[in-house]
Amino acid sequence: MIPLSEIAALSNAGIPRRAEHVTSVRPLHAMNLNEAPFPPSPKAIAAMEAALREVNRYPDHYCEALGECLSRDLRVPAGRIVFGAGSSELLYNAARISLEHGDEVVAPVPSFPAYARAVAMCGGKLVSVPVRADGVNDVDAMLKAITQHTRVVFAATPNNPTGWMMTGEEVARLARDVPETALLVLDEAYYEFGRLEGGEEHLPAMARRKGPWIITRTFSKAYGLAGLRIGYAIASSEEVARNLDKLRNSFNINHVVQAGALAALDDPAHTKMLLEGVRGERIRLVTALKGLGLAPLPTAANFVTVRLPTDAAAAASALQAEGILVQALGWPQPLGALRITVGSGADTDALIEVLRRHLGKIT
Ligand SMILES: *Cc1c(COP(=O)(O)O)cnc(C)c1O
Repeated sequence: MIPLSEIAALSNAGIPRRAEHVTSVRPLHAMNLNEAPFPPSPKAIAAMEAALREVNRYPDHYCEALGECLSRDLRVPAGRIVFGAGSSELLYNAARISLEHGDEVVAPVPSFPAYARAVAMCGGKLVSVPVRADGVNDVDAMLKAITQHTRVVFAATPNNPTGWMMTGEEVARLARDVPETALLVLDEAYYEFGRLEGGEEHLPAMARRKGPWIITRTFSKAYGLAGLRIGYAIASSEEVARNLDKLRNSFNINHVVQAGALAALDDPAHTKMLLEGVRGERIRLVTALKGLGLAPLPTAANFVTVRLPTDAAAAASALQAEGILVQALGWPQPLGALRITVGSGADTDALIEVLRRHLGKIT
């Protein structure tokens, strides 16, 4: 860990406060955090309601029921599956089991902010590798950035905030060529969305890797359970899994969460409805953005990233003034881009209307 004197210099999580969510403007269109626009499975809700009656007891620290269920689905021994309060927690702990002060971490940029924060918390050195123009992790450049001091390589597919995926061949190359002295972390937060768009199953390629690896996935996106905070890692070995597990706080995945996640896995029809609903609305959103003369990046995920002919941060402010929340990116320089989470039909319509007016004003 970093010296105590450096904690004050860490950046905060960069998560917007609810109060900043322009509470005076109704209806609010929350298209900034890649949340599902649908409620979770009714089966999950019923299971959580039942579990509430048992919260006088501590939860199962080991999440055994959930672990066994995933173990069957994934054909991975339960001893190699670890749970976290969101997959973010596992991303932080992946850095903590791997880094000593000054060690290097290779990660794509732009990508998920937790990578850079995890590295900073551990006193590591971040080596950022720009994504390709299509927003996909640049495997060749990432491999070139690795040195004898590299202890973690983060990769994400589909990548957030850009949206598109690595091929099976690209992930296989990472798995093969990242040295055994580094932990390869493949962040698959949008795994289920990627698979729906023809993305490959990377577990076999990762399993062929000689060195240590983890794949992280989450219930936050495809299962519509972002508020519960639960994700999991599939690890290359029981040793890696155990190390991750040792950094967990006691009972960190609560009883209601475990019941909800387990029931959600048992409702594939709901997951399919969510994935297909998001895909349908994403196609509408992409078409509407193209209708404004814009060229959104290719995306398999539950968001669309688009560059504007004007400053993206200013556009995000204009949208926010109308109750539409999107994420302004500093990438690519100089104008940035907007990352727009796929929402309801009404969300899309409101966004397109305000964006049309904003762009009309500046052109
Ligand atoms: C949303 C997201 C996560 C994890 O979210 P949790 O809610 O912590 O599971 C991880 N990586 C990426 C790229 C994401 O977009």
